[in-house]
Amino acid sequence: MQAEIRKLKEIPCFDCKETYPYYVMDFDHVRGKKLFNLSKAKLSGRVKAHEEAQKCDVVCANCHRIRTHKRKNKKMPLSANG
Ligand SMILES: [Zn+2]
Repeated sequence: MQAEIRKLKEIPCFDCKETYPYYVMDFDHVRGKKLFNLSKAKLSGRVKAHEEAQKCDVVCANCHRIRTHKRKNKKMPLSANG
C-alpha cells in the first residue's frame, strides 16, 4: 500500500512542474469531498486510494505550503482553485 501511494506521488509537481522525490510531494485536495486522508490510506483499499487521488493535485511541499497560505489569506473554498 505504501508503494501504491508512493507511485501516485511520483509525478511532477502540479504547480511548478518540478520533479521531486515522493517524500517531498503532498496531495492537495481540490475536488469533491475528502473521504479520508491519503497519508493514512493503508487503512483503506488500493482502489479507494486511487479514487481519492483523483480529487487531488500532487504538489511539492513548497507549493503545498504556498497554496495553504493563499487559502488562509483569501478564505476561499478548496474548489476555488479551478
Ligand atoms: Zn511545486
